Amino acid sequence: MLIPDWLARRAALHPHRPALIYAGTTYTFAELDRWAGAVASHLRQLVTPGARVALLSRNRPGFVAIVHAAPRTAITLVPLNTRLTAAELAFQIQDSDPALLIIEHDLLPVAREAAGNRPLIVLEELTAATTAPTAPAPPIDLDAMHTIIYTSGTTGRPKGAILTAGNHWWNAIGSMLNLGLHEDDRWLAVLPLFHVGGLSILLRGAIYGIPVILHERFDPALVRHDLDAQRITIVSLVAVMLQRLLAIDPSPFPPHLRCVLLGGGPAPQTLLEQCATRGIPVTQTYGMSEAASQAATLSPAESLIRLGSAGKPLLPVELSIVTPSGQPAAPGEVGEICLRGPNISPGYLGLPPRSPTDWFHTGDLGYLDQEGYLYVVDRRSDLIIAGGENIYPAEIEAILLSHPAIAEAGVVGLPDPEWGQRPVAAIVAQQPTTAEELIAYCRSRLAGYKVPRTIVFLHELPRTAAGKLRRHELRAILLAQMS
Ligand code: AMP
Ligand code: MG
Ligand code: MG
Repeated sequence: MLIPDWLARRAALHPHRPALIYAGTTYTFAELDRWAGAVASHLRQLVTPGARVALLSRNRPGFVAIVHAAPRTAITLVPLNTRLTAAELAFQIQDSDPALLIIEHDLLPVAREAAGNRPLIVLEELTAATTAPTAPAPPIDLDAMHTIIYTSGTTGRPKGAILTAGNHWWNAIGSMLNLGLHEDDRWLAVLPLFHVGGLSILLRGAIYGIPVILHERFDPALVRHDLDAQRITIVSLVAVMLQRLLAIDPSPFPPHLRCVLLGGGPAPQTLLEQCATRGIPVTQTYGMSEAASQAATLSPAESLIRLGSAGKPLLPVELSIVTPSGQPAAPGEVGEICLRGPNISPGYLGLPPRSPTDWFHTGDLGYLDQEGYLYVVDRRSDLIIAGGENIYPAEIEAILLSHPAIAEAGVVGLPDPEWGQRPVAAIVAQQPTTAEELIAYCRSRLAGYKVPRTIVFLHELPRTAAGKLRRHELRAILLAQMS
């Protein structure tokens, strides 16, 4: 199905409204539209329609222009994670086989190392294009591949999730039908744009016709400043960011901030409670690359009364909890979260496609309560099984995080001759404490089999660019320390 180019439409509707604000520079919808058109003309000289083009860049206005130029050139964009090593990048580049790489100038050394002799253009050069576009933007084909996003790799090797323009469109619509769209909405983008949580904000900005305030990276002081100075109404964050934001400033958040969309991983109950006490409108969401971001979300009105729930599926999304025997789970019963809907990826690069009638198995465990609210329990692959008992690391982490001495906590299962696996915790302390004290603290709050046998003190936990714990890496660190 074809629909008019969303950015071009917005530029026609309200050319002078701000579309993008970055470090004091404002781009109106007309300016961004013209820029995207110029970049598209430039790209057309470099690649043929249907080509894949990799993009390695931090959050920059040029990134935004390229995202909107992509459908106009009929290319598929492969955003790459700027925090990866050359070897990790090389894997994704080989896997996605791009005809061209667009590289932010400062990242050229690592890109050259990763890309071999593939053609490469500097982002600043590509987006300096000013040639006025000669033709109007073509319509957007909702069935065309829009992006390939490598899932952030908390487990195993990353896979390239294919997202069509229609996946993004339906995600934007589903999100809006849940959060609502206000005349004065302004969305703050501090998540990396190469992850779906950041990228989706850019598309929503154009589809909804609202300004996106873009930060190069998460800087809590700048976020706190811009919540006021830029009259932010919505901000997307992961838990670590929200924690840091709360820590730097006890003053109330401005009343125009109507939604802190919190996703990307489990939200510690203590954090949610702290936000509730401070009147911060946190809306927990459950999403993933394969869902083009949100799949289920609390509604803003329920955020304080359903603490801990990730809400209900967005309007276009079907959600089912499936037991290990393949049966639909009863309310309260834990099973694998499965999703279906027009925002769900048709499959991964190089793997057989999923038919739209098939359920997408997320690999995450959760349950629905009596009223159909989703509670995400853990990723299935993180499950620790000790003596036949299932242990969800997130549960132990939440207890550890509720201890005042603990700033960060990560729990993994390590091999145990007696029990098969045993939970081991790594923590980052913010006050002096001892392993004995923490184990005693857990023992009074958790069933015996869940209590970590060992607690290791680290200076930091390995995290993905989106702030998510890299469990397999943490496991390797702990194994090395303990052998
Ligand atoms: P990615 O596709 O790399 O962004 O990772 C998505 C994964 O993050 C999901 O499959 C979940 O494992 C995890 N996740 C996202 N939202 C939540 C949530 N609200 N609670 C717990 N885990 C979450
Ligand atoms: Mg995933
Ligand atoms: Mg994520």
